[in-house]
Amino acid sequence: MISEISKSIPPFYVMEILEKAKQIEASGEKVIHLEIGEPDHNTDTEICEEAIESIKAGETKYTHSQGLIELRNEIANHYRIKYGVSVSPDNIIVTSGSSPALYLAFLTMLNAGDEIIITNPHYACYPQIIRVAGGMPNYVGIKEEDDFQMDVFKLKEHITPNTKALLVNSPCNPTGMMLRPEVLKDISELGIFVISDEIYHGLVYGEKEHSILEYTDRAIVINGFSKLYSMTGWRLGYIIAPDEFIRPIQKLQQNLFISASSFVQKAAIRALKLNKEKISKIVKLYKNRRKVMFNGLRQTGFDLRKMPDGAFYYFVNVSEFKKNSLDLAFDILEKVHVAVTPGIDFGSGGEGYLRFSYANSEDNILEGLKRLKYYINNFI
Ligand code: PMP
Repeated sequence: MISEISKSIPPFYVMEILEKAKQIEASGEKVIHLEIGEPDHNTDTEICEEAIESIKAGETKYTHSQGLIELRNEIANHYRIKYGVSVSPDNIIVTSGSSPALYLAFLTMLNAGDEIIITNPHYACYPQIIRVAGGMPNYVGIKEEDDFQMDVFKLKEHITPNTKALLVNSPCNPTGMMLRPEVLKDISELGIFVISDEIYHGLVYGEKEHSILEYTDRAIVINGFSKLYSMTGWRLGYIIAPDEFIRPIQKLQQNLFISASSFVQKAAIRALKLNKEKISKIVKLYKNRRKVMFNGLRQTGFDLRKMPDGAFYYFVNVSEFKKNSLDLAFDILEKVHVAVTPGIDFGSGGEGYLRFSYANSEDNILEGLKRLKYYINNFI
């Protein structure tokens, strides 16, 4: 009864770690969560109130399949102000999260045998979304010694007649690194179509981030409200795409999802209008935690090359422990009750690594690292 594709899909290991952690918590133990890619603070009250008011006002129906025009205007405005690029609201499709946005984008462009070039390591779900949409991932390795930057010469070798697009994610999950502007420029000059997952934009702590649209129009942008606005459970994202994609994506959206949630779209308009100081406070908080985790990891004995540029992750080399990352992550969870993500979740290039999320309080980060040190001293 079960299709070949569903049989071949690996689990999203971070969710399995989380579920195991919840089991341990149910027995009364405290688990330190450094695994999940989710902000620990609540959505801003203004955003919540907007949603509540919208529900009360009857904003509970389907919307236009492309999304509310007011929201699309705000998104276009955001890209104009932040990146100086001109985006028409007609080129935006609002989706129920950036995950469906990726799925719709791939469904629209992929025929059997088509390839999407992605890095290895990469965000865990990319290969699965590509496969379910009918395509194949083609992996290009990125390395810690190159600060996980993309080597454009190496990338060129991966371009085949089957290549449909290159998928970039900067700042990147799991490495936290950003692609340098010159790399984005070189990529955009390769002549291949680019899909740019900009979900971690806004969460950067040094250099400014750049949208792919600053370099080329032959690109699709994927973005959403989960990370910067701490709205993971609200499920809202969007696609910015060239004209030729809009009608096909819209038709798929109508058939598969109808529209994104109406009152959540209302709340997202408020998110985009949020006082910039509120946003910078959140960014400062993460910036500080990034430092706390950097110092803590170093004191625990990890030789980190540099702090990541953005997002809220450290991708830490644990190959000296000579254990596969999945066993290691489960063992750390069982022995000292610290949840971390095994590198293998991010592809074969992530083996030998653990991903630590600093979307948690300073106290929890420090407690987690203290427990980790105990684990290393006693169980390695
Ligand atoms: N892209 C990346 C790189 C992510 O890390 C995530 C969430 N972890 C997503 C997309 C999906 O985000 P959402 O569906 O919540 O918008």
